[in-house]
Amino acid sequence: EQDLFSVFRQRADAAPSAPFLLLPDGTAISYAEACERSLRMATLFRRLGVCFGDRVAIQVEKSADALLTYLATARIGAVYLPLNTGYTPAELRFFLADAEPALLIHRPEDEAAMAALCADIGVPQRLTLGADGAGTLLTGAAAETAPGEDRAVSENDLAAILYTSGTTGRSKGAMLTHANLASNAATLAAAWRFTSHDRLLHALPIFHTHGLFVATNVTIMAGSAMIFLPRFDVTDLIRLMPGATTLMGVPTFYSRLLADPAFTRERVAGMRLFVSGSAPLSAETHQAFSARTGHAILERYGMTETNMNTSNPYDGDRVPGSVGFPLPGVELRITDPATATTLPQGEPGMIEVRGRNVFKGYWRLPEKTAEELRDDGFFITGDLGVVDDRGYVRIVGRAKDLIICGGFNIYPAEIEALLDAVPGIAESAVIGIPHPDMGEGVVAVVQSSRADLDEAAVLAALEGQVARFKQPRRVIFVPELPRNTMGKVQKKQLREAYADLFQ
Ligand code: ATP
Ligand code: MG
Repeated sequence: EQDLFSVFRQRADAAPSAPFLLLPDGTAISYAEACERSLRMATLFRRLGVCFGDRVAIQVEKSADALLTYLATARIGAVYLPLNTGYTPAELRFFLADAEPALLIHRPEDEAAMAALCADIGVPQRLTLGADGAGTLLTGAAAETAPGEDRAVSENDLAAILYTSGTTGRSKGAMLTHANLASNAATLAAAWRFTSHDRLLHALPIFHTHGLFVATNVTIMAGSAMIFLPRFDVTDLIRLMPGATTLMGVPTFYSRLLADPAFTRERVAGMRLFVSGSAPLSAETHQAFSARTGHAILERYGMTETNMNTSNPYDGDRVPGSVGFPLPGVELRITDPATATTLPQGEPGMIEVRGRNVFKGYWRLPEKTAEELRDDGFFITGDLGVVDDRGYVRIVGRAKDLIICGGFNIYPAEIEALLDAVPGIAESAVIGIPHPDMGEGVVAVVQSSRADLDEAAVLAALEGQVARFKQPRRVIFVPELPRNTMGKVQKKQLREAYADLFQ
């Protein structure tokens, strides 16, 4: 097993002029050039006192140079710590105080706020990087004319601390080793048949596991290229698709593409694979996409702590509403959340996973780590799922979103799938709201395009499809569901908004 930067260097040695990043302005950054540019950055980091094992925190807009800081950090054995560009200085205070980085790279326009914050909590060094490349990172790197040496790292050294999305509570820093990342990248590149000829359309943020690790590490493993876009823009995606072979997206990418009539079968003629993850892809979107393009979206399931755990097959049925099979090297079991015993196939329960992909624990949260990592190495994902008789895994909701009504378990995903199939309902979220008699009452929050669709019509559409106790007591119409940048519905926010519905 190797660390990712060694893999990168091998690719650069084998095919120096092969493109790594293809930029919207038509320029390309080759493997050799990425190697050279990241070495100058790495040399600068060292000059500023960043040592092996130190954290390098970064909160900047997406750009090629921003991505190269990941390589620069890896090659000196430092620990990469990317932060959501949406975090405010107040939120950043928590992450920086928690992770104690040796260096923070931030946007030039945040200079005043970051200077004060870093002085206050003792972050010794700062560099700036703007979306256009302005700032002290690149001027400093350009001045490094005598490049330093790479630091040998071993597979169990930390490569990154990546904070979880904070969907269910405060974000936790997941400690990921080089082996965690490299093993998963090798598994995914093989499972999804990546080769050096691939061109991955990259429109995801690079502060999250999907855009940073899944997309980038698979690309490095395969020696392929990414068409690297600053953000998701449906028009750009459709325009650039003929030059690409693959796309990795969150479900919103796919529903937005489908909403655009310019997205046609001709535009996807050169594409071989569409991957979806980070949030559930509705069966409706999956089917509509097949009908429009002839491509079955490949849905996979993973998380910050584990990289990717399951995937629909490359060959064979990509089943709508399912996240596929455990990947090679990943063991998956479904347990009873109360007793921790393994459940028979077909019964819903807690998804637990084990493998080289599973992280080393939460940064500075030993108790939380002990709660979620079992002695035998299985990680308790917090997601509820069921394995069908063909072995496909289906996610039925997060444990924290499970609704218990009158003593019965209700899995939100089951009701959401039925709601999504009602003509006129674009998206839905099913939540439990405190109820004086039942403990919790089922509430459906839906986004609809049909003016004549009202609560009674939605309830009538569900009639007879599920047991009465699972049927929503209330249906609430919203113009849009609250989602974060990864397209994850913020159910916590919905539960707070409607907390008094049954009082
Ligand atoms: P936090 O752990 O801080 O509450 P989070 O779990 O949303 O936030 P991430 O690690 O970004 O943070 O997301 C992982 C979660 O995303 C998984 O545990 C799962 O709930 C969800 N997820 C990922 N892929 C899929 C998928 N294909 N279908 C359904 N859910 C998915
Ligand atoms: Mg999580």
